[in-house]
Amino acid sequence: MPLSEFSLIHRYFSSLGRGPGVALSVGDDCALLEPPAGQQLVVSVDTVVAGVHFFEDDFPEDVGYRAVAAAASDLAAMGAEPLGMTLALTLPDADELWLHAFSEGVAQAVAAFRLPLVGGDTTRGPLTISVQVLGCVPPGDALLRSGAQPGDAVYVSGTLGDAAAALALLNGDWQAPAEDAQYLTARLHRPPSRLSLGQQLRGRASAAIDISDGLVADAGHIAAASGVGIVIDTDALPLSSALQNHPSREQALRWALTGGDDYELCYCLPQGITSPGGVCIGQVVSGERVDCGMPLPGAAGYHHFEQDAE
Ligand code: ADP
Ligand code: MG
Repeated sequence: MPLSEFSLIHRYFSSLGRGPGVALSVGDDCALLEPPAGQQLVVSVDTVVAGVHFFEDDFPEDVGYRAVAAAASDLAAMGAEPLGMTLALTLPDADELWLHAFSEGVAQAVAAFRLPLVGGDTTRGPLTISVQVLGCVPPGDALLRSGAQPGDAVYVSGTLGDAAAALALLNGDWQAPAEDAQYLTARLHRPPSRLSLGQQLRGRASAAIDISDGLVADAGHIAAASGVGIVIDTDALPLSSALQNHPSREQALRWALTGGDDYELCYCLPQGITSPGGVCIGQVVSGERVDCGMPLPGAAGYHHFEQDAE
């Protein structure tokens, strides 16, 4: 017998909702959350669509994990503490094998990002996943894109370009030794939590953003919001050893500069402020452009509606 909407929710999504700020979880018309007194609520939603953001035949555990990780990355970029999340799921059918693995990935991400699943919506249609994340931050402490000043240093966390290199691998555009291929695909499917770094940047960073569209595109958002220019030193870009093993350094740098989906943080620190992590990859200057000294077709990031406007 096909699974009803309610037994589906009960079976896969009703037991992941416990957390310190959760007074009422899945099962009623709304969840009830208790943010710490006086704190600001930090809210964001991210949608991924099969065939656009992931392959229809991707391992469902990875699809679930990554959907949550991508949404949690926005909380990290604001310096927020996670409070909880909701999950809007549009499914072509109630495929129990798929749902079992998908919910396993969601459960792993609930634990990794400390984001209890407190509610959601389940509908039928083309496979689409929306994750809304809720967090909190003391008033005035959130990291914005708009505070960078000339003279600040620009930092990034982790390594860059791995997810783009993994996508190129999966598309058959290049081949890597098995160990490197495994590392890179894990970087694509299991983005790291930068929540703790984001929280440590409160009171330190003048601006921050998460890198979902590529370093140059996302640094460009800081530049635009802050009214500054950014100069990137490509020799300073942190590359994983898997990416350093790529036969073309130029290709590796292109992925690091323009590849999306790394979900690392890019942030600016005024002179004299030490970074709790990451590496310095450039400087904030007066101006309005991001300059990396390399021609980069497609550096503006992915635009969903661009071709429609032609
Ligand atoms: P309503 O019709 O009042 O919106 P629903 O039938 O959509 O209620 O959902 C019933 C309960 O299950 C609600 O608490 C809702 O938040 C939760 N829920 C629905 N879908 C999901 C999901 N995919 N993940 C987590 N909770 C869900
Ligand atoms: Mg509903």
